[in-house]
Amino acid sequence: MKSKELLNIILKLFKSHRNNSEIIKELLNREIINFSFEKKYVLNNVDFDFELVKTISKNKDLIEYYVEASDGSPYKIELIFDQKWLLKSFLFQCQGCFGNDDECLVCGGSGWGVL
Ligand SMILES: [Zn+2]
Repeated sequence: MKSKELLNIILKLFKSHRNNSEIIKELLNREIINFSFEKKYVLNNVDFDFELVKTISKNKDLIEYYVEASDGSPYKIELIFDQKWLLKSFLFQCQGCFGNDDECLVCGGSGWGVL
């Protein structure tokens, strides 16, 4: 499966389930999440319709997809290749600094998620 196909499956899961624990269950059932995946962001997620805005290939094994929720909130989805493409992270943009503070105490300066 190509990375973009996995992204589409993930976005479709969010759209069709609209239930955070159902989404986690599906991701686990389909074995498409990396062991390091932090579930709390999906469990606390309130948006279910996402549109792809930007794709950045960090290297051949790591791709970042920047998506936008229907209300315009930015999210970042990371896919990692480990024998197959897997969901590595699903993070909302930091509401403390909006990615503009390298020393932000909420996100640790990454601009995404919370520490
Ligand atoms: Zn921050």
